[in-house]
Parts: sequence; structure tokens; C-alpha cells
Amino acid sequence: MRKRVFSGARPTARQHIGNLLGAINNYVKLQQEYDCIYCIVDIHALTTLQETDKIQGYINDLALDWLASGIDPQKSIVFIQSHVPEVTELHTYLSMVTPLSWLLRVPTFKEKAKAHPDNVNYGLVGYPVLMASDIVLYKAEAVPVGEDQLPHLELTREIARRFNALFGETFPEPEAKLTNFPLIPSLNSSGKMSKSEEGSAIDIANTAEETRARIMTAITDPARKLRKDKGHPEVCNIYTLHKYFTPSEVEEIGKECREAGIGCVDCKKLLAKNMNESLAAIREKRLKLAAKPDYIKELLNDGAARARVIARETIKEVKQKMGLL
Ligand code: SF4
Repeated sequence: MRKRVFSGARPTARQHIGNLLGAINNYVKLQQEYDCIYCIVDIHALTTLQETDKIQGYINDLALDWLASGIDPQKSIVFIQSHVPEVTELHTYLSMVTPLSWLLRVPTFKEKAKAHPDNVNYGLVGYPVLMASDIVLYKAEAVPVGEDQLPHLELTREIARRFNALFGETFPEPEAKLTNFPLIPSLNSSGKMSKSEEGSAIDIANTAEETRARIMTAITDPARKLRKDKGHPEVCNIYTLHKYFTPSEVEEIGKECREAGIGCVDCKKLLAKNMNESLAAIREKRLKLAAKPDYIKELLNDGAARARVIARETIKEVKQKMGLL
């Protein structure tokens, strides 16, 4: 019996190369060893997404990015969260066993409430309960997470444990499948690549020309003002990206940079060429899939139908145990 893995992503923007090198490539690998369920969590997106008329476009983009990158709907269940309404039903049941104090201490809730004091909605407080429902509805045994997401998963485990203690063994406590997500730098700041920061990211769906243009305007070592100045590759985001896209030459690039043997323009051109070559097959597949919207829709409907078979069983069991049947 293969273990079941669950993971989800919010459809709030197109996926960028940081997402690809971190989460998506990991999803693709996990398919070899686990029964994977990958969910486009559109209800979660509503907690912060104000322009809901864009959500269908983002859902389509996320599905295309995943499928083009190698998530295989024959091996994994790929679906849209709201297409399996049992998740909201379970969310209600689990909210009855989750103390409010657990939710108010969640660091991301505190951060979001501070950042948007005028929009601290009930959904934002209950976000971890919905997340727990996503995972335990499918009785997932493992969840791929980065270190920063461990507190969220711990809360899911606590909620599952509490339900089991009150109503009898029902849910496995999902284990963290700790994943070392590489830190892919932003193109225009010292932070990590981000969908919300303008000019920071290169999307999987960008064309080769868009990729090149964005790389050519990216910041480099701020101390290297002239071609003859010696550089410091360790502080340069272009150099960090070479580690992923030009691995066999990265030592040489670092040496050349330090000795001013290579200029930033040539260094960036090399990165753009290698990045475009590495993404070419994914982009070509994405274009082909984008031309078949009915096929994508069918595929997501099929995923939801498969997910729903599991979800209905779990809800039946939960209702029985809670005395509702
Ligand atoms: S030569 Fe390359 S690594 Fe060195 S500062 Fe310029 S872009 Fe960065």
C-alpha cells in the first residue's frame, strides 16, 4: 500500500520559476512513491483575493503550470477544492472541536490581521481548520512542507488528534514530509522571488523573449558599477540563478566575475539562454494544453469525481461518529 500525500496551492497568480524549482518539481517526484492528491485551493484564495472575477483565470493557469511541469493526472488526483463540497462540511464539523485560542495564536493569522486590519474576516481565522479539512478529508498520511509551514501542519495534527480523542480513531495524523525548498531570489530585490512583488519573478508561462528582457533588467552586485569593476557573485541574484540553470559552469562564472573577466551583460545573456533552454519543453507543452480548454476542464472534473469518492466515505464516517446519522 502506497502512502497518500496531499498538497494544495492557492490560485492567486501564475506560477513562477521559484514555485517550479521548489514545490512543483517536488510534487512531480513524489508521484513515483506516493498516491498524490494535488488540489487547487480556490476557497482558500478567497480569504485575501478581492478581485474574484480573476479567479477562474488563475485556476486555469495553475492547472496548466502543474500539468505542463509533469504532474500526471493518470498517477495523481488533480482537482479544484470547491468542486468537492464535502470539504466545507468537514470544516464545519472540525470547527466544533477546534478551540479559538489555537487559531488566534497562528503566526500567519497575526501577520495578516496586522497587515489588513480592515479585513480580518472569519474565514481568515478559520483558515487552518479548512486546511486541516483539506488534508484529513482524504486521510492523507504525509504533506510536503517547508520548515516555515510546520506550525500549520502541527495544528492539523492537533485537530485530528482531538477529533480522534473525542469520537474515536478516524483520521491519521499527517506527517510532515520536510522538503528543502531552494530559496530562489527575486530579480529586483534582496528577498525571494515573489508573485506579489512587481518585476520580481519569471513565470513558467513567460515567453523566451519576456524571460530575456526581465533578466537583462535584473539587479546584480550593486558595487559593480563599471565593466572593469571586480564583482562579488555571492551577493548577486543572477549568480544564484546560474547555480540552477548553469550548474556545470557556475564555478567558472564566479571566478570570472571576481576578476572582472566577464561583464554583467554577457553573464545575464548566458543565464537567459540556459533558462530558456531548460524551460522550453514545459512551455511548449503548456501552450499545447492551453489550446485545449475543454480537455483541462474534463480532467479537473474527473479529478474532483475521484476525490469525491474518498471524501464521501470520510464524511459518512465522521457523521456516524459524531452521532449525526
Ligand atoms: S558578472 Fe554575473 S555574477 Fe557577477 S555581478 Fe555581474 S551578473 Fe552578477
